Amino acid sequence: MASVDLEKPFDYVVVGGGTAGLVIANRLSEDSDVRVLVIEAGADRSTDPLVLCPGLVAGLYGKDEYDWNFMSTPQPTLNNRVINQARGKMLGGSSALNFLMLLYPSKGNIDAWASLGNEGWDFDSLAPYLRKFATVHAPPQSSKDLCGLTYHNEDLAKGDGPIHVTFSEGYNVTNQAWLKTFAGQGLEVTTDPRDGRALGAFQNQASIDPVTHTRSFAASGYYNPEVAKRSNLVVLTETLVSKIIFDTTGDEPVATGVEILTKDGEKKQISASLEVILSAGTLQSPQILELSGIGGKDILVKHNIPVIVENPSVGEYVQDHPIVCQSFEVADTTPSGDVLRDPNVLNALVGMYQASGAGPLGQSTISVAYSPLVDGSGIVPPEAKKELFASHEQTLTTPDSQAIRKLVESSDEATFQFLLFPTQVSIPDVPKSMAEYILPVLPDNYITVMTILNHPFSRGSVHISGPDVHAAPVWDPKYNSNPLDLELLARGVEFVERLVDPSTPFGKLLKDGGKRQPEGLVATDLEKAREIVRQRQISVFHVSGSCAMKPKEQGGVVDTRLRVYGTKRLRVVDASVFPLEPVGNIQSVVYAVAEKAADLIKEDRKNL
Ligand SMILES: Cc1cc2nc3c(=O)[nH]c(=O)nc-3n(C[C@H](O)[C@H](O)[C@H](O)COP(=O)(O)OP(=O)(O)OC[C@H]3O[C@@H](n4cnc5c(N)ncnc54)[C@H](O)[C@@H]3O)c2cc1C
Repeated sequence: MASVDLEKPFDYVVVGGGTAGLVIANRLSEDSDVRVLVIEAGADRSTDPLVLCPGLVAGLYGKDEYDWNFMSTPQPTLNNRVINQARGKMLGGSSALNFLMLLYPSKGNIDAWASLGNEGWDFDSLAPYLRKFATVHAPPQSSKDLCGLTYHNEDLAKGDGPIHVTFSEGYNVTNQAWLKTFAGQGLEVTTDPRDGRALGAFQNQASIDPVTHTRSFAASGYYNPEVAKRSNLVVLTETLVSKIIFDTTGDEPVATGVEILTKDGEKKQISASLEVILSAGTLQSPQILELSGIGGKDILVKHNIPVIVENPSVGEYVQDHPIVCQSFEVADTTPSGDVLRDPNVLNALVGMYQASGAGPLGQSTISVAYSPLVDGSGIVPPEAKKELFASHEQTLTTPDSQAIRKLVESSDEATFQFLLFPTQVSIPDVPKSMAEYILPVLPDNYITVMTILNHPFSRGSVHISGPDVHAAPVWDPKYNSNPLDLELLARGVEFVERLVDPSTPFGKLLKDGGKRQPEGLVATDLEKAREIVRQRQISVFHVSGSCAMKPKEQGGVVDTRLRVYGTKRLRVVDASVFPLEPVGNIQSVVYAVAEKAADLIKEDRKNL
């Protein structure tokens, strides 16, 4: 990068060049009169083959140059296990190391955001932005032949956004059997999931460019070579923001810039004449707020940080989708990604990918299914749901929990997401990184069925561990601290037995009498299912909500224009502002929220 004059104020300073941060930077710098600076802790790894090749993603996890590699505190409800939380530390943030699944939120879910006091944030208002970020490609004929995809509505706007969204060419019999097995349970998708309503199994799309077979992510899309040429957009990589600087002389503190640490350890200050936008992600946006004096008084005083704005909700209400992973040994002829443990197989596939982009390494072949509350007997009838909630009434006192209860009680909403994952999953008590979950260690070949709770009731926290930005914040997800989450998850795990039963198309692909993980545990009753959750639940890596958009008295950190309460010229734009975790995988909502935020910021410029 040519040398940049950091002394001259920028109009906007974006903290974190991740998924949301690059959307904001791109859209604000569309106006060539506006000077925008992005400051990203990691490097630009946009041409790195490990980032670009979808099938090599495991090579990124746990490595300091790509991954912040957070660990939770030991979780009492999960046999005191520690849970890993990978987070992208590079341009593009977590979109550079995610699993590329591209799903859309449900209408009821986003409407619930509005019902929690966020006017303007209902599904219909967000829908244009869910189209704006993407270019959706038509499914290849081979995937239609294998998986039908009749629900995919090709008349819906394809869009021309920076992120390429596509179906895979590499689905196989396991995907086909998955769809048929759910249909046999009365769960077949008939409408396009992009429209905000989906119940049943379907093939999801992925953020993969179908021409190059490479990852399509925030850096390749929103900071592509054309955008990088803009002289009014500066991206500073390998630079840490250590705090926000305020002018405290007026009635409210005004954000005027940031303090940075260059990669040589030099401390500098950079001015923002219009706004500072914090996009450091769910675990680090609250860290920077607290380091800057915005947060709970006790925490700030404990670390000798002068209080600028007292708000104990900063870093609270962290939400995450819990995911329970059960692996099943496959029959000898059933495809499993575990064969990649053989270096000869891996090398052959890498060679094929390098030659033409062909083969499984350029594809995402995960399958998905959404279901209402189900258990070992199938779909749970409304009266049984009511009884379950009645027995947990005392834990359902907040507006959040009432909104979630309504979603789970609705017959249109997906309580669970089930995933078909093509390899075995191992769960060490204290993993070194995300890679340990997905790299095969057992000698036999497996596939994994994953049970995810779309609407968790439990809330965790993330707070600084010291006054230095280098000290990783303490993340305590408090999984299943609301016991209702364990009860719901256990019912989903019971349902998995219906999917793997030898009589189903899916069960027929598993080895007769084969092994399963956790070993020897079959969810024949609720208590066994609860034990499977305790042993096999991890994170789907969808942390959100730590700087929630809500009325302040209900735990909010930002208002409906994503401005930080009690300050001027400071916003947060990333997954931390979500008031409720969206259904399914959340990158689409991160992109859409950031697109909408960019419009809000542009509108507000007129009044600054
Ligand atoms: C392993 C994994 C798999 C996932 N799979 C999927 C999937 O298949 N589908 C899906 O929809 N979603 C998936 N997700 C979730 C999705 O990718 C994230 O929710 C989303 O990318 C988060 O975006 P963000 O903008 O909030 O944060 P990020 O994209 O993480 O951006 C934050 C940025 O801020 C930078 N930063 C942090 N602190 C500082 C600082 N002090 N100074 C400067 N820069 C800083 C970081 O380096 C990072 O680049 C996955 C996530 C992970 C980790």
